[in-house]
Amino acid sequence: MAHGRNAKGGRSTPPDKICETCGRPFSWRKKWERDWDQVRYCSAACRAGRDNPDFKPR
Ligand SMILES: [Zn+2]
Repeated sequence: MAHGRNAKGGRSTPPDKICETCGRPFSWRKKWERDWDQVRYCSAACRAGRDNPDFKPR
């Protein structure tokens, strides 16, 4: 899992998070570099899904 991604002296990527909608872990992406602190869903579908009570992942 934690497979030596942090090169010494370089920038390491933040740890994985768990999606609040589907409960699966997802990894940091470049597009989230500015607001990773606020990212709580693995995808747009999951972000939309949290507002939809009928949404059922898997
Ligand atoms: Zn998700």
